[in-house]
Amino acid sequence: MRPRIAAALGAIVLLAAACSGGATPDPGALSVVVTYPVLGAVVADLVGDRAALTILMGNGVDPHDWSPSAKDIERVEKAGLVVANGLGLEEGLEKALAEAAKRGVVVFRATDHVTVRQRAAGEGGGGEAGGDPHFWVDPLAMRDVVLALAPALAGVGIDVADRAPALAARLADLDAATRAVLAVVPEARRRLVTGHESMGYFADRYGFRLVGAVIPGLTSQGEVSAGELAALRAAIEAQGVAVIFTEIGTPAAVVEAIGRETGAAVVELPSHTLPADGSYATFIGQIATAIATALR
Ligand SMILES: [Zn+2]
Repeated sequence: MRPRIAAALGAIVLLAAACSGGATPDPGALSVVVTYPVLGAVVADLVGDRAALTILMGNGVDPHDWSPSAKDIERVEKAGLVVANGLGLEEGLEKALAEAAKRGVVVFRATDHVTVRQRAAGEGGGGEAGGDPHFWVDPLAMRDVVLALAPALAGVGIDVADRAPALAARLADLDAATRAVLAVVPEARRRLVTGHESMGYFADRYGFRLVGAVIPGLTSQGEVSAGELAALRAAIEAQGVAVIFTEIGTPAAVVEAIGRETGAAVVELPSHTLPADGSYATFIGQIATAIATALR
């Protein structure tokens, strides 16, 4: 890692250390259920020890390929408040969420509180149209969610009014630190090819262009045709893309073949998985560093 990235990354390391995490809730604290770990890390930071937090998906699970267990559904039914992503990420849980809401469980969908990125059909060589669920790669979209979640928590008796502004400020600092890490990437190299179309919010926020995805579409579970792969290869060659970022759920054989045929390097992008320290700041820092190091 060159000194400029390392210096910029230092700010993110400090932000990660500022996040509490691992708090032990008061006995009798209300139960808050969050569906996936990256969002769970931020909610944990917001509630501290004022709620008993449960995260349904295991870390490292592909959220696009997850279905709830009977135990998960029971946890949702018994929760005071459920924090879900929305936009199809928890498709298998929707029926349980509707049932729980009818019985008074507050269901908070994060993507109801961000400016949703819309994907046009056929964009980047294929896939379906729709609202993009991957807001979590944008710290400022995450800040919008925190500021909307605080009053929802207050509504079920979990008062975080003193914690929300500090967390919102740390997320704004994280945005600035991310911009600093990415500053080494020249304009002409600000082009992303990823496993599926997960980086749209990040690209819009930090001035990158999405050239295409191995699986064109908003989920890792989409189909990919020979024609779409040929179009992706052509786009990589025409635009001089040097790196393909592979993600959770990306078929390794396909991505390696495209790398061989185009000469592009294949680099892992941890876009759906929380790092070992459980910190959202580290999560964003690892993504920014992977991109800055590969494209500088
Ligand atoms: Zn995804």
